[in-house]
Amino acid sequence: MNTELQKRKSNINGTGIFTTQSIQGGAEFYAIPLDIIFNEPKPKCARIAEKKYVSDNKVLNWVNHSCAPNAKLDIMRSIPVLTALRNIAPDEEISVNYNETEVQGIKVKCTCKSENCKQYFIRL
Ligand SMILES: [Zn+2]
Repeated sequence: MNTELQKRKSNINGTGIFTTQSIQGGAEFYAIPLDIIFNEPKPKCARIAEKKYVSDNKVLNWVNHSCAPNAKLDIMRSIPVLTALRNIAPDEEISVNYNETEVQGIKVKCTCKSENCKQYFIRL
């Protein structure tokens, strides 16, 4: 299932994750490795369940937030996955809406530049 994803300079903030291939809308294109799990929130981690936070330095830690994301972190699965919300073209940056999965954390000013930007997002 895993699509080839690369770290590159982000159009949103710092370093981001980019796909080298096109991804079909609805496709599950990356399974989150569950090797490093914490039971409390830590920076760079993502919440995947109640008191369960994953650190995936290869991909997920580097996926930026966008208020108009092209992907979703689906945590309602036995293995959390990144799912495409629409067709994604080669060399597009992957983004997700952090506010859908993070419930506590710090409010950060959003730089996604999307039309309907909510101006902030929550990050651990
Ligand atoms: Zn935004």
